[in-house]
Amino acid sequence: MEKKYDVVIVGTGVAGLFCALSLPQDKKILCISKDALDGCDSFLAQGGICMLRDEADYEAYFEDTMRAGHYENRRESVEIMIKSSQSIINDLVNYGVEFDKKDGEFLFTKEGAHSNNRILFHADITGREITSKLLARAQERDNITLMAHTTMVDWVCHENVCYGIVVADMDGKTTAIEADVTVLACGGLGGVYPHSTNFRHISGDALALAMYHNVKLENCDYVQIHPTTLFTKQGGRSFLISESVRGEGAVLRDKNGERFTDELQPRDVVSHAIFDKMKEQGTEHVWLDFSPIPKDEILNHFPNIYNKCKEAGYDPLTDWVPVVPAQHYFMGGIYVDKDSKTTMEQLYAVGETSCNGVHGRNRLASNSLLESLVFAKRAALDIAARKDYKSAEDFDNLVNMDGYEDLPSIMENYHAMVVGEIKKEADMRAEKEAI
Ligand SMILES: Cc1cc2nc3c(=O)[nH]c(=O)nc-3n(C[C@H](O)[C@H](O)[C@H](O)COP(=O)(O)OP(=O)(O)OC[C@H]3O[C@@H](n4cnc5c(N)ncnc54)[C@H](O)[C@@H]3O)c2cc1C
Repeated sequence: MEKKYDVVIVGTGVAGLFCALSLPQDKKILCISKDALDGCDSFLAQGGICMLRDEADYEAYFEDTMRAGHYENRRESVEIMIKSSQSIINDLVNYGVEFDKKDGEFLFTKEGAHSNNRILFHADITGREITSKLLARAQERDNITLMAHTTMVDWVCHENVCYGIVVADMDGKTTAIEADVTVLACGGLGGVYPHSTNFRHISGDALALAMYHNVKLENCDYVQIHPTTLFTKQGGRSFLISESVRGEGAVLRDKNGERFTDELQPRDVVSHAIFDKMKEQGTEHVWLDFSPIPKDEILNHFPNIYNKCKEAGYDPLTDWVPVVPAQHYFMGGIYVDKDSKTTMEQLYAVGETSCNGVHGRNRLASNSLLESLVFAKRAALDIAARKDYKSAEDFDNLVNMDGYEDLPSIMENYHAMVVGEIKKEADMRAEKEAI
């Protein structure tokens, strides 16, 4: 394994890959993934990606994002995201990404809390379409090395400057990798929850390292619960039933078949309504009724969801489907500025791991792929513009490589730190709000 790169990127989801592709091609880049290269939540995204369709929609899009976020969003970040959306979609199209079209024009769908149809999609596998194309482009680049099943276990840092990371391979062998810049693109933290739509290995490792090395975090208790995942008794990763299903007309029903909430409110509101109904009626789930959606629309727009429900024994064309809320997304994270810089020098964070304030207290549907891409590109441009990187005088002696012998315990400890931090922040906020 080579031990020195210009930029090391931890994560091969949309954020990590887009950052790598947006960096100058004379930079030597390493991208690592804890799992397979396609083992990331970006591949799972179903519903779509938002885009500002025209200036007339700017105010409404801004307001929808702020309202969903309970007005705790950083206004500057929201503005940057929305104003960058068209050029980011152009970039994706240039990388070969295809969105559904009719008569040569993009089709736009709608999800909860959107006042307009402004979501581009590729059937119900938008994340797979985007991320597989970005991965293919990255694999074509000579300057990008992609390494699967390679886990970041620590940072190599001194006096608040990051000089690289320590990685472990599948056999637990550790190596210190030196880099001018380290970019954390490690996704969310669903792996620490028993019920989550996220991959199990995506478990907030970068957050634990930020705590350990005194890098600022923000809003670690802002965790989004998605209202509708397929209810099964099997355990494992929860299968998401995209909000765009409700956007296209599906309705929620209680055990008596009654509708009990407006299905297109922000996610946290709908999730609360479902939890309240389950408690009131003593049930383990509520029902999702697809019947208001035309049959062709179900089969053509939602083939993946349709097949998954059928596999579980429910035909959305004729049956109501049992659904239950599950952990889905992380609005908080490693605090970053508008160029994705953390509070440690030479360390950036992008995508779900980071908190640039776009989502406030609650994310508006289909804003996260866009946010990840916009701020990953900003990180790349900022990295490219800088020339004055510090290098470690004695890199090999900055970390004690003997300290990683018991890797399973180290990773377990990271998970416990993440769980503890979420709880601590939630308790502190509850106390503050009670005053
Ligand atoms: C089921 C589902 C549906 C979704 N649908 C939508 C949607 O329709 N629209 C939308 O905008 N958003 C959607 N989202 C959210 C969106 O997909 C994610 O927020 C986004 O893809 C995050 O991208 P990312 O690059 O930050 O992280 P990810 O894609 O999660 O990638 C994280 C990467 O980090 C790596 N990693 C983690 N820890 C380590 C470590 N210690 N060492 C090495 N590598 C590590 C992982 O292996 C992985 O490669 C959905 C999410 C899910 C789960």
